[in-house]
Amino acid sequence: MAWDFETDPEFQTSLDWIDAFVRTEVEPLDHVLGYPHDVQNPDNRKLVKPLQAKVKEMGLWACHLEPELGGQGYGQLKLALMNEILGRARFAPIVFGCQAPDSGNAEILAKYGTEEQKERYLQPLLDGDIVSSFSMTEPQGGSDPTMFTCRAEPDGNHWVINGEKWFSSNARFASFLILLAVTDPDAPPARRMSMFIVPRETPGVNILRSVNVGIDNGREGTHGYVRYENVRIPADHMLGERGQGFVVAQTRLGGGRIHHAMRTMGQIRRAFDMMCERVLSRRTKGELLASKQLVQAMVADSWIEMEQFRLLVLRTAWRIDKHKNYLEVRKDIAAVKAAMPKVYHDVAVRALQVHGSLGMSNEMPFTSQVLNSLRMGIVDGPTEVHKVTVARQVLRGYQGTDKLFPTQHLPALKEKALARYGHMLELEIGNL
Ligand SMILES: Cc1cc2nc3c(=O)[nH]c(=O)nc-3n(C[C@H](O)[C@H](O)[C@H](O)COP(=O)(O)OP(=O)(O)OC[C@H]3O[C@@H](n4cnc5c(N)ncnc54)[C@H](O)[C@@H]3O)c2cc1C
Repeated sequence: MAWDFETDPEFQTSLDWIDAFVRTEVEPLDHVLGYPHDVQNPDNRKLVKPLQAKVKEMGLWACHLEPELGGQGYGQLKLALMNEILGRARFAPIVFGCQAPDSGNAEILAKYGTEEQKERYLQPLLDGDIVSSFSMTEPQGGSDPTMFTCRAEPDGNHWVINGEKWFSSNARFASFLILLAVTDPDAPPARRMSMFIVPRETPGVNILRSVNVGIDNGREGTHGYVRYENVRIPADHMLGERGQGFVVAQTRLGGGRIHHAMRTMGQIRRAFDMMCERVLSRRTKGELLASKQLVQAMVADSWIEMEQFRLLVLRTAWRIDKHKNYLEVRKDIAAVKAAMPKVYHDVAVRALQVHGSLGMSNEMPFTSQVLNSLRMGIVDGPTEVHKVTVARQVLRGYQGTDKLFPTQHLPALKEKALARYGHMLELEIGNL
């Protein structure tokens, strides 16, 4: 009977080490450094590199990857348990070699890349020496890839790329971008695009600006609005086959979505922990907030929603490990993706609320968390699109009836039951 909710003791020891290490060594980085992906920044290098070395020494570097790629081959379930811890700190994923979007980019380079591509782009990415960007969304449309127009045209032994991409996260720190471009405009929608590796320094890769999210804090953001102007890249920089771009993207996005959910679980837990501490500390009208029934409802609702979400994430991770194919687990991943922003939002908002004015202030992390919960409803495809996927996949397991009344219509069920058992019962008319 394999239905077990326990973590095996040996891995729990690793989780305990990770938890202590993140609390003491990594969380402080969030308060003294800028962007985690700014890997060439001297301060980042000075503080992050030794911690990465420690993680490698402990055998916990890029654990989700197969051993031949320098990981432990832990798979998604163990990664989920790790990511719950890493999700608490901005710098933790980069310290452990499993940050987005590099983890997803590494996954497709490993799966679809040629030996040369792996050596030139994958290896330094896995070593943590460089970061990358994923350049898919365009200004005129993100949720619907059939609206993409960024074009790659063959020219001798090269491809020439022209078009714009929007919200290519970390483009300004990236050594290369993985780009989805239209190569075959007349092909069926799923075969129109191909994936390319574009070195960031290629002439014509112009970052118009790096957009920030949320309230204007005057700081340059990280989400590149990129104009590709006559960008010439060698033909061998196509990733996967011509026309396969959509399939390659789906492989990557499946992993990316579940990894976001694992890390988000860490933030939900963080908000919940802060909420509990607060209600057990703050007094009003002669008693603790924890004694107020309306506050108790907030704690109970938050715990229930958080635990439901956690189980859905862990079960989905377990199913990915079982099937080893994101497409087989599409419904589950879409469900996790659709559930994530609401649970995160609701728990963070309640945690903010019980902190009152302090909760609204920039001296606590709640407004950032609420903003991030909204971000989770958009990034990697909006919630609506994922709900559509869930509904379509779920309905594949059902069929309609051509009868006038539903198959569970009670009078019909009763008639059937009487036909089956009526002769065995002493029926009194009107007693049934
Ligand atoms: C913080 C952040 C980081 C990102 N990083 C990257 C990145 O690294 N690389 C990258 O390529 N992209 C990235 N994106 C872009 C992201 O993938 C897109 O924003 C997302 O796919 C939605 O596309 P859009 O913004 O064009 O919205 P649109 O497609 O215009 O959709 C707008 C809204 O319309 C509604 N809607 C859309 N489709 C449907 C539907 N089928 N049914 C019902 N309602 C619908 C939804 O409410 C949706 O939010 C990032 C976005 C954010 C916010």
